[in-house]
Amino acid sequence: MHCPFCGSTQVQLHSVVCADGTKHIHVRHMGSIDGRLMQGSSYGTQYTALAQNCAAPAPPSPLPFMVALGFGGLVIYWGAIEHFPHINWKWFLGGLAVIGVAWLLLKSWIAEAKEYGAAKRRWQRTFFCYGCGQSHMKD
Ligand SMILES: [Zn+2]
Repeated sequence: MHCPFCGSTQVQLHSVVCADGTKHIHVRHMGSIDGRLMQGSSYGTQYTALAQNCAAPAPPSPLPFMVALGFGGLVIYWGAIEHFPHINWKWFLGGLAVIGVAWLLLKSWIAEAKEYGAAKRRWQRTFFCYGCGQSHMKD
């Protein structure tokens, strides 16, 4: 395994670089407030700059779509079912419009999820070179 830029053999997968640079920290605090001894602890995750640079792509969130769908469904419910057989058309059509927005959000989420899948596959094949600091992909 050689770096195509400088020929160094000091290359590692991005996933490995990221895992190496990620530290789970646990800090204990102790102090006194008004003469009483207080104790607490914090947990956290620390990334080195290199680990952040090599981090996996983030998956897109379906939350906006789900919120719009739920909200639209609720509005339709109030407009059409709650007072059945009297339909509140304003609410009903407003709810349909929100469902239409949810549909657009779903379509963009699917497109983002596809792009995320491709980005993730690229990431799994990407190596970082410690010799020159450049990343390259292996087929
Ligand atoms: Zn290199």
